[in-house]
Amino acid sequence: MMKLNWLVLLVLLLPLSLKAEPKVVLVSIDGVRWQEVFAGADPTLYQQPQWVKTPELIRAFKPGQPELLMPFLHKTVKQQGITVGDRRQGSAINVSNPYQISYPGYQELLAGFSDPAIHSNNKIANPNVTVLEWLNQQPQLQHKVAAFGSWDLFPYILNTKRSGLTVNAGFMQEQGKLSEKQKYLNQLQAKTPSPFSSVRLDVFTQEFALEHMRLHKPKLLYIALGEADDFAHLGQYDQYLAAIHRSDQFIADLWQELQNDPYYRNQTTLLISTDHGRGEAAQWRSHGKSAAVPGYKGPVPQIAGSEQIWLAAMGPEIPAAGLIRTTGSWQQGQMAATLAAALGFDYQAVQPKAAQAFDFSASARLALFGKVPVAESQGL
Ligand SMILES: [Zn+2]
Repeated sequence: MMKLNWLVLLVLLLPLSLKAEPKVVLVSIDGVRWQEVFAGADPTLYQQPQWVKTPELIRAFKPGQPELLMPFLHKTVKQQGITVGDRRQGSAINVSNPYQISYPGYQELLAGFSDPAIHSNNKIANPNVTVLEWLNQQPQLQHKVAAFGSWDLFPYILNTKRSGLTVNAGFMQEQGKLSEKQKYLNQLQAKTPSPFSSVRLDVFTQEFALEHMRLHKPKLLYIALGEADDFAHLGQYDQYLAAIHRSDQFIADLWQELQNDPYYRNQTTLLISTDHGRGEAAQWRSHGKSAAVPGYKGPVPQIAGSEQIWLAAMGPEIPAAGLIRTTGSWQQGQMAATLAAALGFDYQAVQPKAAQAFDFSASARLALFGKVPVAESQGL
C-alpha cells in the first residue's frame, strides 16, 4: 500500500519537476514586406535591371515559391507554429502608428502602443518603458534580458541610460570580460566596411547575440536584424531578397542552438515580426506616411502598404495551426503583451495603454471551425 502511494505521488510530481521554465526569443527583420514572406520574389521586380544588378544572387528565389526564399519560416515555423499576414488568404496585421517608419514601429512593437512623441527616427531617448525594460525589473528576469540590433538607434529605443538593459547595437563593440569569439568579432567588425552609416551588417548582430546566449543564457533575447530595409532603400532588390534569405537562415541557426541546449529546448517561444511594411511596384523601395511626420518631407505623403506587416511564432504554448485567418484587426502593439505572457507576465496590468496579447489558440480554434464571429475576434 505504502509503495503504491509513493508511486502515485511520483507520477503526480513528475510533470512538476519537468515543468519547463519559459524563455522567449524575439527576432525582428526591419522593413521586410509580407509580399516576399508569403509569395517569394516579386514577379514585377525581380527581373528589373534597374533594381537587380546581380541576377545570379537571386536565381534560386522563384516568384510564388516563398519556401525557397524563407525555408525555415515555411518548413519549420509554419508547420510547428503559426503565421499571420498573407493578405491574399484573409490573414492580416497592421501597425497602428500613423508614421509607418522604424522608430515608431519599434516603439509600438516593444512598448505595446503608439506614442505621438515618437514620430521620427531621431536619436531621442524613449520616454516610454518597453516590455523589455519592465521584464528586466522582475526578480526572475533581472539581468536575463538582452537585445542585439544592427541599427544604432536601439540604445535610444530601449533607453539604456534609464533601463540599464544589456544592449549591443549599431557598431558597438562587446565590452568587459570577453570570450575569444567576442574579441575576434570585435576585431572583425571594426575592419569590415558597412554599406550603411547607421546599420551594421546583420552577421555581426547575429553572432554577437548567439555568443551572448551561450555565455549568459538570457531568458528574453531580442535580435533586431536590419540590413534588408537598407538594401531596399538603396533600390537593390537582389540584395534585399538575399538579406531576407540570410535572415531566415540566421533564425534557423538560432533555433537549432536553442533546441540543442537543455536550458532552452522545448521551453522557448520564438516570435518573428517586422517594424513596418513597404510600398508596392515602383514604390517598393520606400515606406512611411510623411504627412504624419512633422517637418519630414517624404517623396509622397503616403507610401501605400507601409502599414501592412506580418508575424510568425512557435513555442510550447503556440498551436501548430499554420496560417491563421484573421477577422478584426490584429495590431503590431499586441506583440509586447504576447511576449510578456509567454514568460508568464501580464504586461497590460502595468501598462494599460498596451494592446492585448494575441490569443493564437483561440484564433486557431475559431479558424478550425470556420466561423469567426467579428465581435469575438476583434482585437485578438
Ligand atoms: Zn526604412
